[in-house]
Amino acid sequence: MKIDLHCHSNCSDGSLSVEQLIDRACSLDVKILALTDHDTINGVEQAMCIAADRLKIIPALELSVTWNDKQIHIVGLGIDIDSTALIDLINEQNQRRKERALNIGKKLEKLGFKDAYANTKALSGSDDSIITRGNYARYLYSIKAACSVDDAFNTYLKQGKKAYVKTQWVSLQNGIAIIKQSGGIAVLAHPKRYPLTNMKLCELIEDFKSAGGEAMEVSNCGQSLTERDYLSKLCLKYNLLASCGSDFHHEGVFRELGHNIEIPQANTSVLEHDRVKRFL
Ligand code: AMP
Ligand code: MN
Ligand code: MN
Ligand code: MN
Repeated sequence: MKIDLHCHSNCSDGSLSVEQLIDRACSLDVKILALTDHDTINGVEQAMCIAADRLKIIPALELSVTWNDKQIHIVGLGIDIDSTALIDLINEQNQRRKERALNIGKKLEKLGFKDAYANTKALSGSDDSIITRGNYARYLYSIKAACSVDDAFNTYLKQGKKAYVKTQWVSLQNGIAIIKQSGGIAVLAHPKRYPLTNMKLCELIEDFKSAGGEAMEVSNCGQSLTERDYLSKLCLKYNLLASCGSDFHHEGVFRELGHNIEIPQANTSVLEHDRVKRFL
């Protein structure tokens, strides 16, 4: 059965509307989907409504947190979208995101990209959409200031580049505590995508676990089998549940909803957790 527990709509930096995303998931025969937009749950209720009995939706989000001065992503899976603690946190994060997006815009203006913020915003889903660096990258690519989204990151948006803006997100510990308080479980997203050595990654996982984190993503569609195997073993070593997700943002050759993301047999699936199971 195809499952995908990490993807984005245009409520944040995905390019499809919630409706288009659900239709795509259904046409690809995905049976269980978690919409994990960055620091927002705006699309979740609509996703549940549109999905009806076509596929199961697990309410979720992808939270940006700060750990040891680094930006880490934690998926909150199976959350209660009415939780006031979660809504308060989301409002704070959105304020940080808005300030950061404006400051990235100012830096890009200095580099000659007039109205960068307004133009990037105009390409997003709605006025409420969360603007990430992903949105800026797509804008820079659309005006041919970069030859790919990746190139936009490497030239302008990555740490150390001219339009990079450092942000203090909620701490790893507080982020996980609020995910748990709101009925969900914390899943460490794409562990191999951080600029961390394997030793530092283990330190992150230890802190993640001490803070109450219960699962990690082991499987995503673009990775090598060696990487999946490594993460599967790490997941067992730290006694975490295993999750999988495409991190789909838009149509393209590399990532597709539900594609090539099985949870390894050796691991216990996050779907076994009561807090997730209740939505199945
Ligand atoms: P932010 O949370 O604003 O820092 O933006 C992070 C988002 O940018 C990620 O979720 C990805 O969608 C995207 N992203 C980060 N690094 C890259 C990269 N090298 N190439 C393409 N997209 C990236
Ligand atoms: Mn993104
Ligand atoms: Mn992420
Ligand atoms: Mn993501």
